[in-house]
Amino acid sequence: MAWQRTIPFGYRMRQGEIVRDPTEADAVKEIFARYLQGDSMQRIAEAMEAQGIRYHERTKCWNKSMVKCVLENPHYLGDDQYPSIISEENFQAAQKRKRANNIYAPCRVSGDIREKTVCGHCGAKMIRAIKNRKTSRWECENPDCGNSIHIADEQFNVAIYTLLDTLAHTPEALAARIPIQQKQGNSAQRIANELTNALNRGAESVEYLRTLVFACAAERYNELPDSSIQYKTDKLRQRLESGESGEAIRQDLLNTAVRSIRITDPDNIALELANDQLIGKEADA
Ligand SMILES: [Zn+2]
Repeated sequence: MAWQRTIPFGYRMRQGEIVRDPTEADAVKEIFARYLQGDSMQRIAEAMEAQGIRYHERTKCWNKSMVKCVLENPHYLGDDQYPSIISEENFQAAQKRKRANNIYAPCRVSGDIREKTVCGHCGAKMIRAIKNRKTSRWECENPDCGNSIHIADEQFNVAIYTLLDTLAHTPEALAARIPIQQKQGNSAQRIANELTNALNRGAESVEYLRTLVFACAAERYNELPDSSIQYKTDKLRQRLESGESGEAIRQDLLNTAVRSIRITDPDNIALELANDQLIGKEADA
C-alpha cells in the first residue's frame, strides 16, 4: 500500500534516523490538546485540513480515523527509535477520554418524542447522539446549521411534559384549523387544465369529460392534509374541555396534535401544533 505512511505522522527520516518533523510534531501536539479540550475527532480532522497540514503526501484530506491513529500511537511517548512528542500525562488522558466516549448512553427519551424533535433554528431533524457525554446531546441533521444541544434526557422529558400540560390547560389552542397546504406542480392542476382544454375544444365525449372531472376530484382529495388529524384534534379538544387530564390524553396530544418539538437551546423548547400554533418559549417571544 503506497498510500500508507511508512513513518508515523510527526516524524521523518534524516540520515537513517527517525527525527521529529517540526510541522507535523506541532500538529500532533495540537491534536492531543484539542481532543483534551473536548473537540470531536471529526472537528480536529477539519481543523487539520483547514490548516493545510497533510497526513498523506498524496491528499490534503483528513478523516476521523487519521486523528484516531494519531491519538493511539504510543511512539509519541518516545522510545528507542522515536523521540517523544507527547507527555505521558496527556497521552493517558486522551486514552481515558476515548474509553469514556465509547460507553453507550441509553436514551431515556421515548421514540415518539425523538421522532418529532426538530432544530429551532433551521427546522431540520435533531438526532440524539448516542455517545456518552456529561449530559446527552442532540445534533441538527443539517450540516450548514450545526446546532448542538446538551440537555439531560430527564430535563428534556420534563420540559416536554410541562408543555403538554400547558396545552392540556389551553384547549383553545386546538381550535385553530389545520391549514391546507397547496403542493407545487400537483397533478390535480394538470387534470384541471386538461379539462378546461377539453371543454374549449368542444368536441369531447361526455364520458371523457366525466372521467377528467372524477380524476381531478380524486387528486384534490389526495392533496388534502390527513383530514383525520383535524377530526382527532377536535375530539381531543372536546375531551380536554370536558375536564379529562392525565397520561393518556397527554400521549394523544403528543401523537396527534403536536407536529414537531422545536428545540433551540435547553431553555427554549416549544411544541409546534398541526394547526401551526406554538406552545412554549417561542410562542411567548
Ligand atoms: Zn438546525
